[in-house]
Amino acid sequence: MAMNDELRELYQQVILDHSRKPRNFGELAPPCAHVHGDNPSCGDEVDLYVRFGEGGEINEIKFNGQGCAISQASASMMTQKVKGKGKPEAAAMIEDFRRVVMGDEEPVEVDRLGDLQLLEGVRKFPQRVKCAMLAWRALEQAMEEGE
Ligand code: ZN
Repeated sequence: MAMNDELRELYQQVILDHSRKPRNFGELAPPCAHVHGDNPSCGDEVDLYVRFGEGGEINEIKFNGQGCAISQASASMMTQKVKGKGKPEAAAMIEDFRRVVMGDEEPVEVDRLGDLQLLEGVRKFPQRVKCAMLAWRALEQAMEEGE
C-alpha cells in the first residue's frame, strides 16, 4: 500500500538523519546526572548527561555514544523531546515510547512523541527493541538518581 511505503520511507529518512547528525550530542560538565547504558547484543553504547532544574525539569541533556542507527537515532530524538520537560511528563513519555516499541495492545495517546512514533516498526524485531529503548532506560535511571 502507498501509505505503508510512504511511512517506511519517512522512517528511514528520520532514522538516517538523526543517526548521521545526532542532536544534543556531547557531554555536560559536572554537576549533572551521568548514566552509561549498553546493549551488548548489538554493541550499542550510550552515555547520557542530564542537568535538572530546581523543580526537577530537564534543563540540559546530552548524549554520547556509538552503535547502530536505531540506538543513536532514538537517543537523539529522545533528547530533543524531553528537553525542558518536568520529570512527570518525561516519565510519561518513557512509558508512551515503551508501549510504542513493545507493541502494547492497549490504545494509547502517543501524539506527544511526534516522529518517535515512527519507531514502532521495531516491535517486530525484539533485538531492535533493546536498541530503541537503550537511551530511554538511561533517562529513566538518570531521573531516579538525579536531583
Ligand atoms: Zn542496536
